Amino acid sequence: MDGWGPSKKGSRYFADRGGEKHSTYLCAMQLLDGKKAGQAIREEIRLHVAQRLSEGKKQPHLTAILIGNNGASATYVGAKVKACEEAGILSTLLHYENDLPEQTLLEKIESLNNDPDVDGILVQLPLPKQIRESAVIHAIDPKKDVDGFHPINQGLLMQGQPGFIPATPYGIQLLLQHYKIETAGKEAVVIGRSNIVGRPMSVLLSQPGPVGNCTVTLCHSKTTDLAAHIRRADIVVAALGQPEFVNADMIKPGAVVIDVGITRVENPSKKSGFELKGDVDFATVSRLCSWITPVPGGVGPMTIAALLQNTLLACQQKDI
Ligand code: NDP
Repeated sequence: MDGWGPSKKGSRYFADRGGEKHSTYLCAMQLLDGKKAGQAIREEIRLHVAQRLSEGKKQPHLTAILIGNNGASATYVGAKVKACEEAGILSTLLHYENDLPEQTLLEKIESLNNDPDVDGILVQLPLPKQIRESAVIHAIDPKKDVDGFHPINQGLLMQGQPGFIPATPYGIQLLLQHYKIETAGKEAVVIGRSNIVGRPMSVLLSQPGPVGNCTVTLCHSKTTDLAAHIRRADIVVAALGQPEFVNADMIKPGAVVIDVGITRVENPSKKSGFELKGDVDFATVSRLCSWITPVPGGVGPMTIAALLQNTLLACQQKDI
């Protein structure tokens, strides 16, 4: 890629695609700032919780389960617990050794299902190899499944009925809503078909209603000519877990780009020894698109805000 011009509205640049020069409109990109939007949503939740407490209602309570010593998982759970505290949501973190037997975990989940004080249960993925992810997801009471991974909640989502929406796609929906991004009638391409990100995201974007009504293409590792699909998209959601996979050659000028990927890439110059990379090559794509999420500070904080929203909802449902 060559010929990048300065990022100012209305300028043009020439991109070299396979020897051919294309003239392309260079947009004034705006950031979909998940940190800011997430903070605004968390503040709303904090006010709701404070209102509940002043009315003598139950304080929402999230229990998070962390198994083993995966650094990234510990960081994510830590951020979730801290966000709960700041919003006035009670949080309990249960941390187990990596060799925890599956049966012990399932029994713990059962006791949390039966504990009336616990509104939401979250088991941080990935799990050690002796524990089956599907067994854990099925074990959580759908009414406390604030991550939205249980088949009942996923089925409700498919049918457009109320339930818990998986936190990451829900967070992206809240982000698009926050920035008033028009979605109706747009071509959306979602890259990645996992049950927790890509597939539910494709359902949300295609359903009727706000932040929906898109025509959606769901791509995966067997998609033929992925770049051609992405190039057609007004909205791109990259959730494949391949650092900087989506580059400017694949992007339609003016597209809205949501980067879900978070991969730790070694970088000896960093104190931690690594840096976080998204699935989008931000440096080049940001010069061409209209809106883009940064990594970090984009989808990550929105996932947390959505988790808190689901926990508040789980608690509110007990009021009825
Ligand atoms: P999975 O590994 O479960 O799924 C990845 C998907 O991407 C699969 O459907 C796979 O296709 C597809 N894929 C992989 N490589 C390619 C390729 N070269 N071309 C096209 N499709 C490809 O990942 P997750 O959905 O769990 O997560 C995706 C990314 O999002 C990861 O980086 C993860 O860390 C991040 N993430 C971020 C969150 C946040 O809060 N910001 C939350 C959750 C995840 P196939 O099905 O054919 O194998």
